[in-house]
Amino acid sequence: MVDLLPAQCQGWQKVESIALEHFSRAGLKEIRTPIIEQTELFARGIGENTDVVGKEMYNFDDRGGRSCTLRPEGTASVARSIVQHGLLNNGPQRLWYGGPMFRYERPQAGRQRQFHQIGVEFVGLASVMSDAEVISIAWDFLKDVGLNDLTLEINSLGSNEDRSVFKQELKDWLNQRFDLLDEDSQKRVDVNPLRILDSKNNSTKELLFEAPSLNDFLSNKSKTRFEYLQELLNNLKIPYKINNNLVRGLDYYSHTAFEITSDHLGSQATVCGGGRYDGLISELGGPKAPSIGWAIGMERLIILAGEKILQSKSPDVYVIHRGEKAEQLALTITCQLRSFNLSIELDYSGASFSKQFKRADKSRAKWALVIGEDEASKGQLLVKNLRNKQKNDESKEYIFSKKDLHQLIKKLID
Ligand code: ATP
Ligand code: MG
Repeated sequence: MVDLLPAQCQGWQKVESIALEHFSRAGLKEIRTPIIEQTELFARGIGENTDVVGKEMYNFDDRGGRSCTLRPEGTASVARSIVQHGLLNNGPQRLWYGGPMFRYERPQAGRQRQFHQIGVEFVGLASVMSDAEVISIAWDFLKDVGLNDLTLEINSLGSNEDRSVFKQELKDWLNQRFDLLDEDSQKRVDVNPLRILDSKNNSTKELLFEAPSLNDFLSNKSKTRFEYLQELLNNLKIPYKINNNLVRGLDYYSHTAFEITSDHLGSQATVCGGGRYDGLISELGGPKAPSIGWAIGMERLIILAGEKILQSKSPDVYVIHRGEKAEQLALTITCQLRSFNLSIELDYSGASFSKQFKRADKSRAKWALVIGEDEASKGQLLVKNLRNKQKNDESKEYIFSKKDLHQLIKKLID
């Protein structure tokens, strides 16, 4: 688990504000659920035989003896909340969420035990249009953050019926080659054979080239649905690759599954994962409500966004002062200017003017506001432009009366 230090938080805020803008343009509403849920929710919602539930969850008993879990992902909690509060009585829900998630995994670059996701869920919508819209929200957002080398991979997992026929076929095929599989995959043959399809083990991957493909087991209806999604993505000019081995880690997906990956993330290549989960809401005791959503890993997104996004914002004005009277005026003016939406950094060093000017330069503020004993006793403020210095390195200076703040502000927002 890692701290996010002040230098990083500004970049995070930038990315979050871009996300918020996209969500609001798409008419999404935010939902916030607790970080702790009953373990049962994830066991039922995600599936007992998944890596997340089987190996990665932080479980503990609370003082009342209830088994609790730090949420490993957001969808199950959102689904629970929708059911519990009957939100679908108001029609389909188009929601977004964000916050920390917890998985006991081996930490490495782009993989942490506490990490952060932002996610989108369209609940109660069955049409292929919603699949395309949900994908386009993720795609447009990531582009706007400045990521240009992304690959969208899509697959269809078909209906439950399609998948159960395929599952049996795949199981038989794998059992005939049991000794050739890696140990992890051997354990999965009976409990979760589909997961073997996205094994990271090289020899298993090679073996799987010859395996039966889920694509051949899709019903005509599922195939038509998948083709229509491709047509809609073409219309939106969102490039994609079909990856028939893309199955995703969680049990609840059907039909559309997708991932957005980047070559710049090493082995943790996936920045966004999502798919359709038509059975989850009813599994949790709600009405039949076909749904689709995605989650983006914030840490990986920030890695991709790079240094540029982490650059801290500079203040509009840096306030330099010396002496007791000047200090009082400096604090008063600082608070007044902030109430006009200007960002002000106040010097606390008590150092010489020249040292304070160096700090002002370092802060990259556009303006320095200078108050010495002389200015303080005359009720004056000296303003210097720190960006457009003159040829002889002298900053342009302006003098204002503390009683005429409007003139000062006019200059500062100039
Ligand atoms: P991976 O295959 O990388 O483990 P996943 O399939 O487990 O990913 P999802 O459950 O789909 O991941 O979560 C969506 C996104 O959340 C991932 O694409 C990734 O960006 C991010 N994510 C998942 N687990 C972690 C983690 N332990 N640390 C950081 N980010 C993570
Ligand atoms: Mg994982």
